[in-house]
Amino acid sequence: MTTKDNLMAENATPRFIVKVSPQGASRLKTGHLWVYRSDIVSSGDAPPGSVVTVTDHRGKPLGTALYSSTSQIAIRLLSHDPAIDVSALLRQRIADAIAYREAVVRNTDAYRVIFSEADGLPGLIVDRYSDILTLQILTQSIDSDPVRQLLVSELSDRLKPNSIVERVDPRVRELENLPPRDSGLIQGDKTSTVITMNGIQFHHDALQGQKTGAFLDQRENYSAAAQFARGDALDVFCYHGGFALHLAPHCSSVTGVDSSRPALEAADRNAELNHQEVEWIEANAFDLLKDYSASDHLYDTIVLDPPAFAKTRRDLDAAMRGYKELNLRALKMLRPGGFLISCSCSYHVSQSDFLEMLASAGRDAHRQLRLVELRSQAKDHPILPGVPETSYLKCAIIFVS
Ligand code: SAH
Repeated sequence: MTTKDNLMAENATPRFIVKVSPQGASRLKTGHLWVYRSDIVSSGDAPPGSVVTVTDHRGKPLGTALYSSTSQIAIRLLSHDPAIDVSALLRQRIADAIAYREAVVRNTDAYRVIFSEADGLPGLIVDRYSDILTLQILTQSIDSDPVRQLLVSELSDRLKPNSIVERVDPRVRELENLPPRDSGLIQGDKTSTVITMNGIQFHHDALQGQKTGAFLDQRENYSAAAQFARGDALDVFCYHGGFALHLAPHCSSVTGVDSSRPALEAADRNAELNHQEVEWIEANAFDLLKDYSASDHLYDTIVLDPPAFAKTRRDLDAAMRGYKELNLRALKMLRPGGFLISCSCSYHVSQSDFLEMLASAGRDAHRQLRLVELRSQAKDHPILPGVPETSYLKCAIIFVS
């Protein structure tokens, strides 16, 4: 039986059975959705990407899951019901994800519509950029043709986009042992548009840029930062100017720094679109902060939003040193009464690691820090209390005396 047959045969009985160890079973029972390969007792002949029945080591059914033959995350639970109709479930989950956004998303036509496990759709990310939808497929199961067809038809019917674009991460496909595939249009022909978040406009080119084009998870943090921003502002790791353009109406000067020239060119087009003046500097942030802090450049508002330094747990020590260095230099460059908006998007850096690092940077800089707000990711990137991996972004707004 191929992946395709198994996934869409509604009552495929018997399904392939994957047995998990007592530890794997207890993870699933306590609300987690993953079982690692090391906790698989046997996977029978389950084909890559197939829908399987998960059982404990004695054969007691625990639910229906998606199986990956290569990922360290061998099992992603779809449902505690071992006999669920998978295509009906996928349709229902899409409808639920859209209903959740209708309930919580405000002031934007760009937001994440489906956030993988957090919406019960493991391995699928869908972002809406006004009239363009962007799809990212991260697992063998979601990559199957019938699932792709189901997704495109449900998303088109419910959200009526002008086009749907797939963004491919070649590394993920390699890890999942999937054939190479190019990013491109999968429906319609529109690939660029303008999005508006919190009243600020951004050009969006669906086939360019990092992630799926924008860092939508920071959207609510942009407006939170704007509430406190004033004076001279510096947005470090500015990308397309998300923070910088939100700060600009409240500040006397704004400078954005990034090492990517294409990102700064896009940022400059965005500044023009919003009739804002921002100075963009192409530089390595570590070098620039070192120079600026040594040469007494002072600011009233500084944003630090670096890329994830800790991609794995092994990187944690080096990552913490990187965060500390950036925050220490930024603190030294703030005028008394200034605001530091400091972010980390590394899941492996816990909230308490992050606060400890900030406290230590504050001590070394001889500055007093008051935590005005400790924020997380925008609500369209939901957090599941039982799945800690769904919570990754930290954004501290700090008053610095
Ligand atoms: N603040 C942005 C997102 C930042 S993502 C927003 O809200 O949209 C991280 C950015 O850091 C990327 O644009 C990347 O190009 C940039 N970057 C990565 N390493 C860098 C470095 N060493 N110095 C400066 N910029 C860097």
